[in-house]
Amino acid sequence: MSKVTREIDLYKKLLEKYKEIVLLNSIEMNIYWDMDTYMPEKGVEQRSEELAIISGLIHGKTIDPEIGALLKEIKANENYEKLTPVEKRNIYLFQRDYDRNTKIPKELVEAISKQSALGNSIWKKAFAESDYELFKPELIKIFELMKKLANFLDPTKDPYDVLLDLNEPGFTREIVDGLFDELRDGLKPLIKAIVNSPKQPDYSLIERACPKDTQEKLSEELAKVTNYDLNAGRIDETVHPFTTGYYDDVRVTTNYHLDDFSSSFFSVLHEIGHALYEQYLPQKHKYQPIGYSCSDGFHESQSRFIENFIGRSSEFWQYFLPKLKAITGGIFEDVELDPFVRAINRVIPSKIRVEADPVTYSMHVIIRHEIEKDLFAGKISFDDLPQIWNSKMKEYLGVDIENDAEGLLQDVHWSGGGFSSFPSYAIGNIIDGQLLWKMDQEIPDWRKDMQKGGLNKVIDWLKTKVHQMGNLYDPLELVKKITGEELSTKYYLNYLRKEYSKIYELK
Ligand code: ZN
Repeated sequence: MSKVTREIDLYKKLLEKYKEIVLLNSIEMNIYWDMDTYMPEKGVEQRSEELAIISGLIHGKTIDPEIGALLKEIKANENYEKLTPVEKRNIYLFQRDYDRNTKIPKELVEAISKQSALGNSIWKKAFAESDYELFKPELIKIFELMKKLANFLDPTKDPYDVLLDLNEPGFTREIVDGLFDELRDGLKPLIKAIVNSPKQPDYSLIERACPKDTQEKLSEELAKVTNYDLNAGRIDETVHPFTTGYYDDVRVTTNYHLDDFSSSFFSVLHEIGHALYEQYLPQKHKYQPIGYSCSDGFHESQSRFIENFIGRSSEFWQYFLPKLKAITGGIFEDVELDPFVRAINRVIPSKIRVEADPVTYSMHVIIRHEIEKDLFAGKISFDDLPQIWNSKMKEYLGVDIENDAEGLLQDVHWSGGGFSSFPSYAIGNIIDGQLLWKMDQEIPDWRKDMQKGGLNKVIDWLKTKVHQMGNLYDPLELVKKITGEELSTKYYLNYLRKEYSKIYELK
């Protein structure tokens, strides 16, 4: 056997190992989806046993010493340099995962998973009773465990940076700080001007009784106009909307509010944005490390692009309003385009992140980030968190928080150790601004196109530029690859200023 053939054999063997991990992960995702949708109540214990088995199998596969040996042998082989950049990227990504998985002691993995489960159940109770003090001891425990984990991964780096890198490879606290400072300073005066504008939209145009089956028909129509393939996906109902899956089985969920169709309408558009990314990943790289999305922030950019840039645009509604009227059978018969578009773009500083409008949304994320980084730097104490949260909400959004449930406790993430996962939400917005700027240059007639007949041009552009890239590049590199520039907040801020100045008739 020649050396080159042997090299190819090793690479193939390595990818086979990766495929097994991918498939097991996919099984696990399906179990979670089932638990959130149709599992009968009594099934929960059986299902937990199944999950325990699967996660044990996954863990075993990810730390398989044979992977380490294969990686080592491939890299030491004299033909390594002859591999293509794509093959090398696969090897790099697999090595990165393998190193991460093998550096963390089993006891720590178990301690984190135990504490997450406990922390989650106590968070639920604390949230229901609006009692931060109840949650605080658990929060401190998981915080210490996550710091330990960061230390095992890279003791030379700031723990916050290490954790951030897991969601957004290549980002550091310094980079996020720079972006968020600009974003916060740009948003503050805009929000103030909007709130003080005498031209407030009429939201009664939206808040009208709309039956569930009608809203379900709207969801199906949205799947059609966005090219979300329902033969490789489905739309179901859950308390919190989400997307799960990969390539040919990507499912979204939503939550219908009978007196405000826009809630599920925009959540469906958002989740479809996530789903399109997964459905349009490069088929030829399925089951490989590069056959995944780029980062959480990039994922969020795709969902928010469809939800906000497309779904809230006047051009989209020029196209879709007649469809809305037809499907809802008279409910919105009297509604005219302009006031309707203004209503769906209403901005109201509010207490809850997941309910926030596109302008104030990033502020919620910035506040969370500022608190997290100060916690990791030891600058603030766990005792003071609610008070710090509340005073930042007042300062940035002018909102008075009256209890912990509508304040610091509103998000579940921290209970499971999800520190540093929040920035991705706002990074998605920033990326979007830059993508939009580039899209305007490359396909300047996309808005006109959309007025007449739909979203094909936009979706195709996102597909080619983002989805088909899989995980070939880290997020900051991908931004540069697509737009030719470093990531900057100016495009997103420009977009917001332009759009909302029109809506609120700002000077
Ligand atoms: Zn999302």
